[in-house]
Amino acid sequence: MISIPEPPKPVNEEVRTYKPGSADRLELVETIRRLKEEKSDIPMFIGGKNVKTGVLEAIRAPHDHKTVLAHFHMGTGEQVKMAISAALSARQKWSETSWEQRASVFLKAASLLSGPFRYKINAATMLGQSKNIHQAEIDAASESIDFLNFNVQFMADIYSIQPENNRYTWNRLEQRPLEGFVYAVSPFNFTSIALNLAAAPALMGNVVVWKPAQTQIYSAKVLMEVFHAAGLPAGVINMVFAPGKEAADVVLSHRDLAGIHFTGSTEVFQSLWTQVGNSIKSYKSFPRLVGETGGKDYILAHPSARPIEIATALSRGAFEYQGQKCSAASRAYIPESLWPKVLCHLLDDLNQFKMGSPEDFGNFINAVIDEKAFDKLISYIDNARNDPSVEVVAGGNYSKETGYFIEPTVILTRDPNYVTMHTELFGPVLTIYIYPDDQFIETLDLVDNTSPYALTGAIFATDRYAIDQASKRLVNTAGNFYINDKPTGAVVGRQPFGGSRASGTNDKAGSMLNLLRWVSPRTIKECFLPPVDHSYPFLDPVN
Ligand code: NAD
Repeated sequence: MISIPEPPKPVNEEVRTYKPGSADRLELVETIRRLKEEKSDIPMFIGGKNVKTGVLEAIRAPHDHKTVLAHFHMGTGEQVKMAISAALSARQKWSETSWEQRASVFLKAASLLSGPFRYKINAATMLGQSKNIHQAEIDAASESIDFLNFNVQFMADIYSIQPENNRYTWNRLEQRPLEGFVYAVSPFNFTSIALNLAAAPALMGNVVVWKPAQTQIYSAKVLMEVFHAAGLPAGVINMVFAPGKEAADVVLSHRDLAGIHFTGSTEVFQSLWTQVGNSIKSYKSFPRLVGETGGKDYILAHPSARPIEIATALSRGAFEYQGQKCSAASRAYIPESLWPKVLCHLLDDLNQFKMGSPEDFGNFINAVIDEKAFDKLISYIDNARNDPSVEVVAGGNYSKETGYFIEPTVILTRDPNYVTMHTELFGPVLTIYIYPDDQFIETLDLVDNTSPYALTGAIFATDRYAIDQASKRLVNTAGNFYINDKPTGAVVGRQPFGGSRASGTNDKAGSMLNLLRWVSPRTIKECFLPPVDHSYPFLDPVN
């Protein structure tokens, strides 16, 4: 009956191409059509039951805001309380379920996303979050599947870490789920991050209350369908919709809060941390606080770099998914000797970008997530246009008539501390500072000191000494550092992801390090021949 099983060895999911005429593309288009027809009412999911409040809010496509895709049932603190109770009721049974059974649920979820749910999760992400098919596929399908498959392997690896023994004793390390519930709070921009924030603690035997961002509820609902279809027992992951502050007030004042698994802006995580700190005496345990937050990610080019490679990294790294990736390049440092060629290649790329609905597969650029983000972004663009110290060298146009569209915009600044060199905008705006070729060392200092964040960064150079120098001087500027590659596109199992400074706790999603935060080890020492004499040799009488 008992064995020590080995889970299937994880392999990164192949990214599908959706080429014109392919079966994948036809299926996806058909799924988009069906989803748009459905116009469902999305309930909360608490203790295995659909919970409706009747307070309906519309979900609109960012690229076509007159189109209502669905409605969701808005909740309050009441439903958050229900979700905590449901989670705590499910806790004992789930925490005692053997690890291979837990693993099987999430491996099955991975298989479902790879097969029967692939088009649905991609279609929901395209429509609800305005991602083109490639961006949806690498996120909602591939990265989600990778998180699930790799985390099972990491879990097995964690359980296999055992202490040394000596004769007559056996030392064992048990990885207990946390005592209480975990609060997962997810951002709008990655469906896979939302999945992982809820699934990683649950895989390790914890129960979870999950609050997705309002602008991601359309695909969050599909994730919940996948968990359900995979056989996740009732109450293990409970999904609630409530205003962020209201939900946090209920959760953070609960004695059984065991951890927060957060991804989103730095300010919100700081406010959660402050609230936990202020309530610290009221909890049963010290809650684990895991937060991956904002970024002001850079590309630094050395005079030895190749202009075409820099330009490609800029156009992809800054503008894919409209720059709404925490890892998106949003500031760049280019030596003046290379700038004319870099600009020429960059403009070439930008001129080829088409912008519009993700349903038109020719569009590389889609809409930003909502009106609030749109208004904030264009205020920075307008300010740049009216500021004589900077120049908008590409893009700068926008319209919210049909959807929230902003052209990929490049600002050139002579001031390395210009506001868009250090503030996270989270949109398709890249600011470039041109430095004199002989000031590479001074520029390394600028990269280090200009922004409070330290998430991702890239050095482009062919000179090996320059690469070495940058790698060392910029050691604390990025948790994910790239050499001759764009600073986006981390892959689970290959580039564990997370940053430090104001970018978060750097607990590296997509690695064993993250899963370690969701367990509390118990050391067991068993003695086979217990001592029967209290004395030690040093007490022996001297002859
Ligand atoms: P956000 O901070 O606005 O929202 C994140 C979550 O927090 C949402 O679920 C939201 O409802 C909730 N929330 C908002 N206000 C709250 C409050 N006062 N109390 C409690 N919860 C609250 O972030 P967003 O706009 O969804 O996502 C963009 C941000 O996320 C960017 O700053 C980006 O850099 C960051 N991000 C970081 C990573 C990373 O791995 N470092 C990955 C993705 C996104």
